[in-house]
Order: sequence, then structure tokens, then C-alpha cells
Amino acid sequence: MQPKLILHGGASSLDDKGGLDSVRSSLREIVEEVYALLSQGESALGAVVRGCERLENEPRFNAGTGSVLQSDGQVRMSAALMDGARQNFSGVINVSRVKNPIHLAQYLQQETDRILSDYGAAELARELSVPPYDPLTDFRLREWQEERKDNFSKKMARLIAEPEPRRGTIGVVALDQEGRVAAGTSTGGKGLERIGRVSDSAMPAGNYATDQAGVSCTGVGEDIINECLAAKIVIRVGDGLSLEEAMTKSIQEALAHQTDLAAIALDRRGGLAWGKTCPVLLAAYHTGERIGDTLELGAEESAGFIAV
Ligand code: ASP
Repeated sequence: MQPKLILHGGASSLDDKGGLDSVRSSLREIVEEVYALLSQGESALGAVVRGCERLENEPRFNAGTGSVLQSDGQVRMSAALMDGARQNFSGVINVSRVKNPIHLAQYLQQETDRILSDYGAAELARELSVPPYDPLTDFRLREWQEERKDNFSKKMARLIAEPEPRRGTIGVVALDQEGRVAAGTSTGGKGLERIGRVSDSAMPAGNYATDQAGVSCTGVGEDIINECLAAKIVIRVGDGLSLEEAMTKSIQEALAHQTDLAAIALDRRGGLAWGKTCPVLLAAYHTGERIGDTLELGAEESAGFIAV
């Protein structure tokens, strides 16, 4: 079977991340590297982990290094991995001081307790001797200081969510030579959120896969959770809709609810799809024959497909 790959670097604007050319070249470099692994026989799960790791290490995206700061100035990251072949979900929620949250999600694939939050995730990192790592970048610190500057003149900082989310989450969905599907998503959250807020990225709403299809989402987590978007698209495919129908129907519903989100998807036959209710989706794909991206899609274009 010819492998397929689609990945995203979030739903925020190109300007935030250094413009069209630099975002395109980093997404393409990663899509090519990960596709080469799939061509050499790497599993969908292994390819997704590698893709997420590369995107987490790229400071222009809001995951791993370069994660946005929460309302209290701390970085707390969430990541999930789902092996479609085994229908097995694992993840970490609000973990700090690790370089690659996706590696913890990968380890948890084999455990009986598969989704760990803050203290539990930190304890796991310690048990696994994961070296402590500070994912903070100067850019994110300055961004937070700028947004919080008035707080320093007050007795108490405002520790609640801000209306304008950051949206630079990353995600990867792959189909391997054996026809197995996997999906992974990793995020620093939506930025300036209340302490303890839980992102969609480590929930089946934001990241889901079965032996039929896989989806990774980005955008405002609360909207993605309300739509239960990733699981909904995948389950619709399992119930007999084509990937195109499942994506279109789910995005139409999300549009009707005035949401701010996006999703990338593929199915076991090799179809690729993306959909969005937000203006921009930074996604790239590799079909084996061609590499493409969604960087120049208009705000009004809500979905796209590449049939097998
Ligand atoms: N979905 C993420 C969250 O709300 C943010 C993003 O996609 O950039 O935590």
C-alpha cells in the first residue's frame, strides 16, 4: 500500500510564524523526512511520533519548544497519540519541563494507565529519566510580558483565559505500507489560559484514529470539544461515509455553531482531507506522488480533499 501523510502546524496566521516561505519550508522539510521513513517501512505510529517530535522541536509552532505561556507565565504542554490499528489512545495533559511530550504519550501506549496529567506526567518523566528541559523561547516570553504588562502594576495578576487564542498546535496523521493509521497532536494550549485548563489535544475530541481513519485538530479547544470533532469524523467514516462526506458534514456543523477550528484527516484507502472554520490552516501533505499544502487557502474555503 502506498503510504500517505498529512501534518499541521496549527490554525494561526503566517505572520505569527515568520511568513509563508519559512512556514512552507519547515512543513515541507518535515513532511519529506517523515514520508521517507514511511517509504522505508516505518509504521504509521512511528512516523507520527517522529513527525510530532520534529514539529515540537521547531520553535515557530506552539508545541514543545516555543509553546505559548499560560496566564501565570508557565508552559504546560499536552500531547496525544492514537494507534488506529489497536484503537489505542494515550496522552499527557499539562506537562512541564520536558522537551517532547509526544515521547511520554508514546511510552504510555503500552501502559494500563494511558493518560496522565501534570503531577503524574512529571513523575513518569522522572521515572523514565527524561532530562529536565525548558521549552520557553525569548519570543514567547516577550509575547507574554507584553500581554501581561499591566498586571505588574496590580496586586493580583489576571489568571483567566484571554479572548484571543494562540492556536499553533501541531499534529500528524499517517497511513503506512501495511494500511495502518495513526494520529498524534501536541500543543502548548491556547495561550494565557486559566491554570488547570485542559486542551482538546489530549482528548479524543482533538486526536482520534481507528483502523478506518485518523484525525488531528487545531483551533479553540473548547470549540473542538463541543463538536467532538476528531472522533466524530473518524466514526462517521467507520459508519460508511466517505472521508470527504464525513469531513464536509462535520465542518458544516462546526460552521453553523460559529466555531474556530480546523482538522486534518486521512482514511485507510489513502484519501486525504482537511477542513476549517478558521481563516488559516497551516497543513502539508505527501501522497507519494505529490507534496502540497494548505497555506494559501482562502478564508472562505472550508474543506479540501485528495481522493485515492
Ligand atoms: N487546540 C489547542 C487548545 O485549545 C490550541 C491550538 O490548536 O492551537 O489547547
